[in-house]
Amino acid sequence: MGRFLFVISLQVSVLVTQAQNSCQTVEYMHQALLKSPDFVSRMMEIENFTQGYIRSHNATTSSNDDSGLVVIPVVVHILYNNTQQNISDAQVKSQIAVLNQDYIRRNADTVNTPARFKPVAADCGFQFELAKVDPNGYATTGIIHKQTDVQSFGLEDGIKFSSTGGDDGWDRDSYLNIWVGNLTNGFLGYSSVVGGPVANDGVVVLYNAFGVGGSAVAPFDKGRTTTHEIGHWMNLIHTWGDAFCGNDYVADTPPQQAADYGSPSGIIITCNNAPLGNMYQNYMDFSNDASMNLFTQGQKQRMIALFQPGGPHYAILSSTALTGIPLKDTLSADEGSGSGFSVSLYPNPSTDHINVNFSDNSVFGSELEIFNQLGMKLTSTIIEELNLSVNVSSFPKGLYFVRVNKAQGALIKKFIKL
Ligand SMILES: [Zn+2]
Repeated sequence: MGRFLFVISLQVSVLVTQAQNSCQTVEYMHQALLKSPDFVSRMMEIENFTQGYIRSHNATTSSNDDSGLVVIPVVVHILYNNTQQNISDAQVKSQIAVLNQDYIRRNADTVNTPARFKPVAADCGFQFELAKVDPNGYATTGIIHKQTDVQSFGLEDGIKFSSTGGDDGWDRDSYLNIWVGNLTNGFLGYSSVVGGPVANDGVVVLYNAFGVGGSAVAPFDKGRTTTHEIGHWMNLIHTWGDAFCGNDYVADTPPQQAADYGSPSGIIITCNNAPLGNMYQNYMDFSNDASMNLFTQGQKQRMIALFQPGGPHYAILSSTALTGIPLKDTLSADEGSGSGFSVSLYPNPSTDHINVNFSDNSVFGSELEIFNQLGMKLTSTIIEELNLSVNVSSFPKGLYFVRVNKAQGALIKKFIKL
């Protein structure tokens, strides 16, 4: 306990010297601790829980044998003050793709991991998917674009609340919230602290350090800022332990004196860490995006601990945000979400064809999809006429859902196949 408090006090002492053009999670943690001193005990509880998991895990297993993927539903809140900041859905998807490579070590630049670090490099087993169902049970793309009068957001979490020009987070037990916007002084991002207030939970990333292509600007244009911040969201600490030769509570990252910046090369010896040197290739250092390429087995254990029963992210494993068919719509029938058009289906029940009639041609160009009860998409088509006939003769008997996606919202109807 004493040691942990000591680390926190050191973190507070070094933050004034941190470069602005970087992650501000430590500064954010400092402010959170000032606001809520009780928070320290919650952090310590989680740290003890994590260390307990790691000890028992090491006692019962030999190495990297955790099986199965953890899929985390994501909602991205884009707050824009000008059109340049209103990044495209394609750019959001490019960020999700980066996460889905980095967190299972399928990133193309694993070849740049030095041989001395390859034995500890980890497939962490996490995948990320944009939410399909919103907190009210309606279909969603998992991406929110919202205009704001706020020119830039700081560490006081204004971006996370509609009342301060941001956007309210979705339930943290079902979604990982990612806010993207313009940040004060161009800092790259920050994460909430594990164990902090639920309404503030999630990560914040600068709009031009998010994703690949579009507004992303080198050297933070490969999506690694978000990889890094989600690492914090899963309780990882910077590789230098936020102190001079500090402790990141991970056994297989060498101690290092301080953050590495830019594009380091060769073996950098600090804190008696020969022969390995600083692990500046780690996602939790401050190197440029192109210089990062690994998490370690030890970091993986810290992250996985949070998803164990009793852990702070355990609940998200039960999220229904990805089930494809909005829960509410499966229960409450043939209503849309204020999309201004109507659809009729007949015959219902049907045997070989279902006819879909639209009230007006505003749906032309929209997508029509049919799902089964498990949320599996069976067919999709672009609507080009007011009357469609869909062949369902090959569908097994059961309940099906027709979803029409328009920009203003989705409309869902159900039918029975006999
Ligand atoms: Zn950081």
